[in-house]
Amino acid sequence: MASSTKYKRVLLKLSGEVLMGQSGYGIDPDTINRLASELIEVRDSKVDLAIVIGGGNIFRGNMGTASGMDRASADYMGMMATVMNAIALQDALERQGAKVRVISALHIKEVAEPYIRRRAVRHLEKGRILIFASGTGNPYFTTDTAASLRAMEINADVVLKGTKVDGVYTADPVKDPTATRYDTLTFTEALTKQLGVMDATAMSLCRDNQMPIVVFDVTTQGQMLKAVMGEPVGTVVQES
Ligand code: UDP
Repeated sequence: MASSTKYKRVLLKLSGEVLMGQSGYGIDPDTINRLASELIEVRDSKVDLAIVIGGGNIFRGNMGTASGMDRASADYMGMMATVMNAIALQDALERQGAKVRVISALHIKEVAEPYIRRRAVRHLEKGRILIFASGTGNPYFTTDTAASLRAMEINADVVLKGTKVDGVYTADPVKDPTATRYDTLTFTEALTKQLGVMDATAMSLCRDNQMPIVVFDVTTQGQMLKAVMGEPVGTVVQES
């Protein structure tokens, strides 16, 4: 168990892609089980843990619009994909003994609680892990924006953005071998240089409300707990 964590309440944004593991689509059982055990480790270090889950491993709005779908309809499908991921993650966590609540911004009460801010905070106080599904509940938004919004609403100390890359780079490190990683960045820098930390709506929400973001590689075991401990695991975005 961790001795002392830097953050006491965290909002973790998990992109749908990280659930795929090595496969190109869907949910990889070994990957989700490994993530679940790391999430429980974080919770066991006495940190209030809320997760916003993405849906990109199943469906993104732009996949629908590319084939001519109406944008709002495609986005609702994307939001439904996040619900599927949320249920899978809840199941993986519960099989390892955690207490979990899935809270959905879209009303789908047979499978998830509706979003009621005070109730969500109460769950955290009781030590339950929260999974926020359906993003913001509105088309034309992303789960990154949902992460920023919910972080503010639950008074989180930080947004932890768990991705496949170990931070923010000057360029795409896959395409450009000279790309270097930032240890820290200001919101304004990230926005003006279009560094792709999160979309601009999500970033400006964090900037306007002084909500720091830590971008780290969630696919490497142990990084999640280190991020919560405040160890230098990736890129910290905050106002200087
Ligand atoms: N989405 C939406 N409103 C929201 C959040 C998500 O319409 O508030 C839709 C959107 O189509 C998006 C999809 O859900 O492409 C999946 O979310 P996202 O792309 O953020 O998932 P991730 O890339 O993190 O897996």
